[in-house]
Amino acid sequence: MACVILKPGRDGSVSRRHPWIFSGAVSELKGHAQPGETVEVFSSDGRWLARGAWSPESQIRVRLWTFTPGLDVGRRMFEERIGRCLRERSALSEGGGTTAFRLVNAESDGLPGVVVDVYGVYAVCQFLSAGAEFFRSTISDVINKILGPKGIYERSDTDSRSKEGLPPRTGLISGAEPPGLIEVQEYGARYLVDVRRGHKTGFYLDQRDNRRTVAGLSRGRCVLNCFSYTGGFGVAAMLGGASSVLNVDTSRPALETALMNARLNGMDEAAFEVREADVFGFLREMSNLGRTFDLIVLDPPRFASSAGHVPKAARGYKDINLLAFRLLRPGGLLVTFSCSAHVGPALFQKIVADAALDAGRDARIVRFLSQASDHPVGLAFPEGLYLKGLVCTI
Ligand code: SAH
Repeated sequence: MACVILKPGRDGSVSRRHPWIFSGAVSELKGHAQPGETVEVFSSDGRWLARGAWSPESQIRVRLWTFTPGLDVGRRMFEERIGRCLRERSALSEGGGTTAFRLVNAESDGLPGVVVDVYGVYAVCQFLSAGAEFFRSTISDVINKILGPKGIYERSDTDSRSKEGLPPRTGLISGAEPPGLIEVQEYGARYLVDVRRGHKTGFYLDQRDNRRTVAGLSRGRCVLNCFSYTGGFGVAAMLGGASSVLNVDTSRPALETALMNARLNGMDEAAFEVREADVFGFLREMSNLGRTFDLIVLDPPRFASSAGHVPKAARGYKDINLLAFRLLRPGGLLVTFSCSAHVGPALFQKIVADAALDAGRDARIVRFLSQASDHPVGLAFPEGLYLKGLVCTI
């Protein structure tokens, strides 16, 4: 096995079990390794530290699989880890209530670059790093053995693949082709998921608990669901007794699925509307028209994909939150999210506070929200915490 030798003083993060080694920390590669092949990692003074996947094209040069000497990176390790993922998900599902969940959450589950989402009897995988790609067929076999899905579909079509020097790849890996739309259940709501063309693997599973929270806050309220995608929060709000929901998104296909979701849940179509529009302009338009709402959800896409994008992202978050605060009736609720890992909880709270101030609203936070428990955060991997939400009342 080839060996990676770190530069002097660059072994601290590995000792704390952080799973990434950046290119700047690597002194040399001794021997030859294919992209994704397993390498041994040593400190500059020759101490064995870890075993990980070599990724010559990526800034993250090695993603660590194990810190245990003698543990082979192969089928048994994947069986043990994915088996543990499944046991943990079963233990945390609070008696069920959902047929869709994230089985494997990459680094935070000890499986860098590997994402596995389950939608009913189908599994959808993402292999996002050179190491994940290297073990693609082993991991797929293990999923078949442990979970036994009817089919495994691949959605490895994210930006992060190109940083690893990998082309995008989608399609059936094994078993049966999933239907065009898979129906899943979530706490009494029914949702259609397009695993081929939908965002990520098809659905925002990370928002599951927050959809339930919104349902519980919606009774009798006139709801505006911004960045609605397929209407996840909108359907939850209606089932929770909202008087009406207006869903806004730029994606026509997502809004069409939202309307199908409303029908599937037997909703009054006059009360569940969709609008294809840019949220920034739409909020201004509503403000000019003097429209108001009792509950507004803001769940924008990731505005900051790197630390350098944080200032611009902060302005974007501030704009939409300011406009939303202005549209809230007295006693109204703002449910606002950021899924940018680079915008931490404290910064996000400050941005929302500034937005309230500039909107002339005296707001209070009544709930702090985060990602669902099937999106755990490795304690050694704080980057795994990306979703933050606040429920504010005025
Ligand atoms: N709330 C959704 C997930 C939102 S993902 C859920 O829980 O399922 C972000 C959504 O924002 C995507 O559907 C994307 O199409 C949409 N979007 C991105 N930029 C937008 C913009 N400027 N205005 C409106 N929608 C936008």
